[in-house]
Amino acid sequence: MSRIFSGIQPSGELHIGNYLGAVKNWVALQDQFETFICVVNYHAITVPYAPDELRTRTREMATGLLAAGIDPSRATLFVQSQVPEHTELAWVFNTLTPLGELERQTQFKDKAGRQEQIMAGLLNYPVLQAADILLYRADLVPVGEDQIQHLELSRVVARNWNARFSSDAPYFPEPQPRLTPMRRIVGLDGQAKMSKSIGNTIGLTESPDSIWDKLRPAVTDPARQKKTDAGDPEKCPVIYQLHRAFSPADTVAEVESNCRGAKWGCIECKKSLHTNLIADLAPIRERAAALAANPAEVDALLDAGASKARVVARQTMHEVKARMGLPEAQ
Ligand code: SF4
Repeated sequence: MSRIFSGIQPSGELHIGNYLGAVKNWVALQDQFETFICVVNYHAITVPYAPDELRTRTREMATGLLAAGIDPSRATLFVQSQVPEHTELAWVFNTLTPLGELERQTQFKDKAGRQEQIMAGLLNYPVLQAADILLYRADLVPVGEDQIQHLELSRVVARNWNARFSSDAPYFPEPQPRLTPMRRIVGLDGQAKMSKSIGNTIGLTESPDSIWDKLRPAVTDPARQKKTDAGDPEKCPVIYQLHRAFSPADTVAEVESNCRGAKWGCIECKKSLHTNLIADLAPIRERAAALAANPAEVDALLDAGASKARVVARQTMHEVKARMGLPEAQ
């Protein structure tokens, strides 16, 4: 069975952009692949942060993933800092990664531009990312288009290490991207990708009332000034996109017809979306509430996931050290 690795930042509660753009796909993939899902808290400390908040957000993210359908009996779910081999392998890869490769990374340039002082960890972030993936010798990484450049670096790292230490039979596979079916979820502002830092999200476990408060003022096709104006769903990036994700096919067809034919107002359209959205998310919200009430259960599941991940991680580091002439701790 091919192996898949995915990482997600501990940003707290999942939002529907994370869910549609990544997590829903992982839930499907866990039945087809040997799946490793990692809450990448070492990546989160490359920018200023508060320790207590990070701890809380890490558990919230794990809770969200479990509630959304990641099943610890089918996937290995764990927190990066609980598997020390990630940073150990990252150091090895740092010794083989040209500085120029890292300085060219678009995400580094974006993030560095926002920092007063640039720390080495921010520059080396993609090396740790390569270690995350290659530690499990993953064949595939589900990614959005914006992450392809980082994955390319992981392939370069694998190639460099293989050329130096296992040229006979490459030890590390060069991981391939598996593009997520829903690539970019537009936020409630109708402009930027849905992102917590922009504040244009709907939380996966938000209450129905709170979701309605966000949907009601969301931007629609500007041509629809009043109910009798015909519209074009393709020019309604937020509501139509969410109907297609959460409403049944006959409702999506009804939205098309009613919008183009000016047969209903945007509020009715949004109410229909709200009904379908909250029905779809209700089981997730219920599971998340049950898990949030029992944080010890979440911690125990993460501990078990880390133990499972470490079996593979230790084996990889054993092979790496043997080939590099590095004695191991006894
Ligand atoms: Fe958007 Fe629906 Fe209004 Fe059409 S009717 S513009 S799809 S909210």
